Amino acid sequence: MDGDFEYNEARLINHSCNPNCEVGGKGLKLWIFALKDIKIGEELSYDYGFGYDKDYKQFVCKCGSKNCAGYIVREGSRWRIKKVKSVSVSR
Ligand SMILES: [Zn+2]
Repeated sequence: MDGDFEYNEARLINHSCNPNCEVGGKGLKLWIFALKDIKIGEELSYDYGFGYDKDYKQFVCKCGSKNCAGYIVREGSRWRIKKVKSVSVSR
């Protein structure tokens, strides 16, 4: 997903750790699917799916959801962040 293109309306959708949409499709045609009922005027969001790597702290997440990991990292990799946090708390 490249949000830099003017024609890509998906660039308007923000990341959330508790998203209401997901992205599907192949190649240049991508679809935004709703994961749950979305109220009129509610902001659309989806998991950007950034991988966990040494630079994850560059992408701070402020989605405000209850399960926010604090950084934009794909759901499957967020446990690594939580692990790092719990280690630092116990010191
Ligand atoms: Zn978040």
